[in-house]
Amino acid sequence: MKVILLGTGTSQGVPVIGCTCETCTSKNPKDKRLRTSAYIETGGRKILIDTSVDFRQQMLTNRIDDIDAVLYTHHHVDHIFGMDDLRQYTQRHNKFIDLYAGKSTMKELKITFRYVMDEELIRHKSVPLVRFNEIQNKPFTVGNVEVIPVKVSHGNIKIFGFRINDFAYITDSSAIAPEELKKLTGLKVLVLNALRIRPHPTHFSLQEAVEVAMSLKPKRTYLTHVTHDLLHDRINAALPKGIELAYDNLKLRL
Ligand SMILES: [Zn+2]
Ligand SMILES: [Zn+2]
Ligand SMILES: [Zn+2]
Repeated sequence: MKVILLGTGTSQGVPVIGCTCETCTSKNPKDKRLRTSAYIETGGRKILIDTSVDFRQQMLTNRIDDIDAVLYTHHHVDHIFGMDDLRQYTQRHNKFIDLYAGKSTMKELKITFRYVMDEELIRHKSVPLVRFNEIQNKPFTVGNVEVIPVKVSHGNIKIFGFRINDFAYITDSSAIAPEELKKLTGLKVLVLNALRIRPHPTHFSLQEAVEVAMSLKPKRTYLTHVTHDLLHDRINAALPKGIELAYDNLKLRL
């Protein structure tokens, strides 16, 4: 199984437009963060988690030549606004791409991208050709790949993280109920959101994310969805063993 962390920044990305702070002016490439998304290759399938605002650049940088399916965590703009560029894949390979999302996320996707359901535009293939697959909080398959949804709180909404084999990807969470945490035991790699030092109502802070990781004990944890408050090298040096800040284009093999 191959994983690429395509983007590891919070909704504004890093650097933040107009900001001259230490992180935003850092020369370290690990302090340049596109919006959060991941690419997974397993069981002959090419699976994306979210289509970030920076989708096009992420596909070009990583030379990704095809996508079979997208798993959506939730409907917030930073996680969905690249969807239109799936069109390049559906045109090139003359196929439909399967989108998987929970009920409320699916509803919002269909409102935001209403035009992709226009039959005339579908006939002319001038929109991304997508199939909407609504998921529940129970395992489903993409081809022969089993995906286990993990329901987490993102402030007062519920969203999905996903587990595939020994890899799990949880973004934009602020709390995880005990029965959902059980789905995250025995992991080789956990990708988990950690926004900043100060607490936030809808995202884990760095301290909270570290506590979740320490309780789950995956072999390795990579922290994502990070703001410009966290300078990569300084924060990384202070993290416990086995836990580190993710960075864009980090490639993992499991
Ligand atoms: Zn987000
Ligand atoms: Zn800044
Ligand atoms: Zn969000």
